[in-house]
Amino acid sequence: MWKEQPTCIECGKEILEPSLRCPKCQNLTLVPPIQGSHSSEINLQTMWSLSDFLPSYNKPITLFEGNTPIVKVRNIKGYKDLSLKLEFRNPTGSFRDRALSLIVSDAVQKKKKSIIGASTGSFSISLAAYSAKAGIDTTNVVPQNLELTKIEQMKIFGSRVIEIGDSVDEAISKAQELASKDDSYLATPETSLLTIEGQKTISLELALQMKNIKSVIVPRGAGSLIYSIFRGFQDAQKSNWVEDVPAIFAVSLEKTKVSHLAESLEIKKPFLLNEVKDILNKTKGQEIEIKGDEMITAAMDLAKYEGLFIEPASGSVLVAAEELLRNETITPESSVAILTGSGFNALNIYAAQMRDKKKVVWGLSESSTTKFEILNLIAEEKAVYGYSIWVSLGKTQSLQSIYQHLNELQKKGIIIISKRKTKRKEFEMTKKGYETIEKMRNLIDFI
Ligand SMILES: [Zn+2]
Repeated sequence: MWKEQPTCIECGKEILEPSLRCPKCQNLTLVPPIQGSHSSEINLQTMWSLSDFLPSYNKPITLFEGNTPIVKVRNIKGYKDLSLKLEFRNPTGSFRDRALSLIVSDAVQKKKKSIIGASTGSFSISLAAYSAKAGIDTTNVVPQNLELTKIEQMKIFGSRVIEIGDSVDEAISKAQELASKDDSYLATPETSLLTIEGQKTISLELALQMKNIKSVIVPRGAGSLIYSIFRGFQDAQKSNWVEDVPAIFAVSLEKTKVSHLAESLEIKKPFLLNEVKDILNKTKGQEIEIKGDEMITAAMDLAKYEGLFIEPASGSVLVAAEELLRNETITPESSVAILTGSGFNALNIYAAQMRDKKKVVWGLSESSTTKFEILNLIAEEKAVYGYSIWVSLGKTQSLQSIYQHLNELQKKGIIIISKRKTKRKEFEMTKKGYETIEKMRNLIDFI
């Protein structure tokens, strides 16, 4: 099925299963750069028009993924004329569809009756949709703190969902355990070589769609997208579609500022960290850190002025692009930013941003009302320590009672003491806190 035989980059072992880790030494496996047809012979309709570069299957499972458009920014000054690759136009609203089309095709080829997946979101939604198309039973293992809207989408596509632990690592271990028990097919972005091989078609398309690309701006996440984009350009280079691999810029969130807006960007230790560093060096790109609140503003501006609705994490590349353009590190005409995910997959986050926050809190006790007001202040970072909260609430009650409320909220795991290094005791929301406040706001709207 492979066009070129994948091997382990360290021990050279030939890889039979599409695993991203060598079964012998645990190092990365790699499909060598592939030479495909002349670019004029490709009639780009879906990702599968690039089958020269993909493993072949008897019965590919497709929902018409890929061939996503490129549009130029017209109305936003900060990055006017920058090209945007609209990966959110894929069937389930993210670039992951390219990976899952291959992964589910592979499971079908192997006559698997069920697939077990683990991820933090769009990968699992995509898995659920492609399994539905293939008629294969699917279970998605996800962290317990995943947003409800994502879990609901998986269920709509007929997937079972198991919620376990706080991190994707725990979900992956559980998925591995389940898959080995009943001979299910295991699908996670961190373990499958097909993730890389599917996602690399983004850069093959870029090479066909755009002339003279010098820079590509990509959200870093755990590194798999950057790694894939580099791989795709290697194939394009080998096929003489491009002369050089463009500079790749990796966008991540400032480490001091953890946001609840983009789980895909909040990766503690990217599993392809060394590879990403290597790629940035080789291509003369760089890593850019941005602030969480800038990215949501950028995403909302894109909707307002360009008519494109993306998820908050995708806004990160726009913030980075603006900075790179300001510094004249890149030029708009020769640069492209990858917009990975749809705003429809993050509607709840936007709903929270748009909502009028000054509603009267009917139905809550006086003390709950104060807690709700305190939470709103901390969530929006308008006041994050005792004294400033007391002032913000108009000094209508004793300072001592504010400390009492903060104490209670902390005990319930709704807020924690911030790790920011300041003299004051500053608070920030936990994930549970954000969910609690969101539920309260929903309830209040309803009433
Ligand atoms: Zn090896």
